[in-house]
Formats: sequence, structure tokens, C-alpha cells
Amino acid sequence: MAMPSLEKAARGEGSFVAEKDDAELVRLFREEPDSLIALADAVCRSIHGDAVYVRGLLEITNRCARDCAYCGLRSSNRGVHRYRMDVDEILERVKRAFDSGMRSFVLQGGEDGYLKDDEVAAIVSAVKGATRGEAAVALSLGVRTRASYKALRDAGADRYLMRFETSDPTTYASLKGGERLERRIEALMDLRDLGYELGSGFMTGLPGETEDTVIANAFLCRELDLDMVGIGPFIPHPETPLNGEQGSSMELAERATALVRCLLPFAHMPATTAAGSLDPRGRERMWMAGANVVMPNIGGSDRRKDYLLYPGKICLDEDFTTCMGCLSLRVAACGKRLDLSKAPALRRKT
Ligand code: SAH
Ligand code: SF4
Repeated sequence: MAMPSLEKAARGEGSFVAEKDDAELVRLFREEPDSLIALADAVCRSIHGDAVYVRGLLEITNRCARDCAYCGLRSSNRGVHRYRMDVDEILERVKRAFDSGMRSFVLQGGEDGYLKDDEVAAIVSAVKGATRGEAAVALSLGVRTRASYKALRDAGADRYLMRFETSDPTTYASLKGGERLERRIEALMDLRDLGYELGSGFMTGLPGETEDTVIANAFLCRELDLDMVGIGPFIPHPETPLNGEQGSSMELAERATALVRCLLPFAHMPATTAAGSLDPRGRERMWMAGANVVMPNIGGSDRRKDYLLYPGKICLDEDFTTCMGCLSLRVAACGKRLDLSKAPALRRKT
């Protein structure tokens, strides 16, 4: 498939698929999921072409002060071997991926109180330096103060990823130890204000949620005018209070991806590792439903094994080269190809 001109698309020119009105999209979501998925796929290809952008993911700390009810890294889970990567380990991993052409990195972790602003800032500037300023650095370290986000932005961070998890305030507070959803949204607004490219998103199928919650989540993504949206199926972890809950179907996560793609045609959307863990073809299903990004793990396998947000996480042993080989075959089966470039946020100028 020919690459459309992204610049043209960003100017609102060119032939991307016309947007449908909201009520019709919701009807398709409820009644004709296959049509919604086909539409989302067409919207995605008309704007992003056949590119699947690669973001190298490094899980820099699994220490977390929070006790989110869904997450295997929650502080009450004493069975986790906790680690924090030092700058040398981070740089070694980033450099290897950079040398193979990767230009976009995500540094993720728990809300690790020991990772003070100056330490994270030092990591960010070291990564920017080691990649000669040519790579984009995204952080995903949860809620921090505005001053902290500013310090990290000043150190060179380009992007921030932080899901709102659910748009239902009651569910949010009950799963996040009483934290209010407004606090998370306020933090997202701070990030936007400070000039970060902004990523957020949600899990599908959290206990008590309905299709209406998924629809409200999708509309919240548009309201927040996100540059990136990550959607993953909830997978119950045995060492959490949600052990024994049902978890999400792949179909729901796929449909949610399609709805968000139709609402936010320009956003970058990963086919998430959680989708690939729930269903062997989960990521392919997301690339065929509007996703245009993949985030392979570039850390060592020992680290990956200690970063189990949910059980059954895939790709724990594969090294980086094997991962890239496997992924290029997987995207090719969807009529797409890997693209290692920085791929900045794409916004339609109005
Ligand atoms: N501490 C940061 C980032 C790490 S958690 C934060 O919370 O924002 C990254 C994401 O993993 C979370 O946003 C959540 O959506 C997802 N996650 C956690 N537990 C999960 C589970 N059991 N199933 C699926 N996704 C999960
Ligand atoms: Fe910590 Fe994030 Fe897991 Fe919550 S979801 S326990 S903040 S790592």
C-alpha cells in the first residue's frame, strides 16, 4: 500500500476516510462490531499507511508505593523480587536498540518514591545524550507533581504515558486505593500543559464495568485529545484481590480499539502486550482494528520476569533480535511493516 503523505493528512488534506457521527459509531460498536473494526482499519491505513511504529520499552523499576487492586506489582504483593535499573543498565539497553535503528523509547515503572526527580532527570538526559538527541523519550511513571513533570520535561522527556484506566470515578477510586480520578486527569492536564506529547488509555473488562463504560472511556480519550492511546484487556493476577474475577475478552479490547481509532484518527495506538498475552493473535487483531504501534521490551529477560503486571505475559525470554524478527512477520501478516522512526504525534491542524 502506498504511504499517504502524513503532512498532507495533518493539514486535513488527502483522502483519509470520512468520520462518521458519534451515534452511528456507538451503534456499530454495539450491533455491528465487524463493520466498526473494518472501518477503523480503513481509517488507520488511510492516515498512518502500513506503518507499525516501534517504541522500545524498558521497565526501569518494579518498585511501587501504590496498591492498585489489579496489578501484580502492587506494594502488598510481597512475592515480587524488586529491582531498580541503574543508568548503566538503561543506557546499555537503549544503545543496543538505537544502533539497530530504533528512535523511540519508553521508560516505564511503578510509582517508585526513591526515584527522585533529579535521578529520573539524569536518566532522561543520559538517554537523550546517548541517542544524540535523535530519539524520542517517553516516560510512564505514574502520578507525580507538576514540578516533577516540569523537571523531567526540562531534562528532555518528550512524551508521557499514563492511562486513566477507567472513566468511572467509583471504579477508579475503589481500584486505586481511594485516589480520585480527578487527580489522574489533573496530572494528565499538567503534562499536556508542559508540552509533552500525551498518551493515556484504559483497560477493558474491569470488574463491574459494562459496554457503556467502554464507550465512555473511548469518548474520554477524545475529550482529552490524546496523542497516543493504549488499550489493554484486564487479566486478573493471582496475587491480587481481583484474583478469580473474569477478566476481559479479547473481543472487547479489539472493539474498544476500533471505536477509539474512529474517534481519534490521528492518534498513535499500540497493539498491547496484554492483548498478545490474552490471545496468541491478540496483537494482530489490534493491528487489524486500528492500532499502528508496537512496544517490544528491550530489557533483559531477568527483568521482564520480575515485571509481571498480569500473569501469562509473553516474550519473557526472547532477545531483542528475535523479537524484531517475530514482530516483522506478525505485522507483515496484517499487510503492515515495522517502522523504527521517531513518529511524533500527528495532529490535524485546523
Ligand atoms: N505505574 C505506572 C505504569 C506501570 S503500570 C502506572 O500505573 O501508570 C502500566 C499499565 O499496566 C497500567 O496503566 C495498567 O493499565 C496495566 N495493568 C496493570 N495491571 C494489569 C492487569 N492485571 N491486566 C492488564 N493490564 C494491567
Ligand atoms: Fe504501581 Fe502502576 Fe501497578 Fe498501580 S498499576 S501498582 S501504580 S505499577
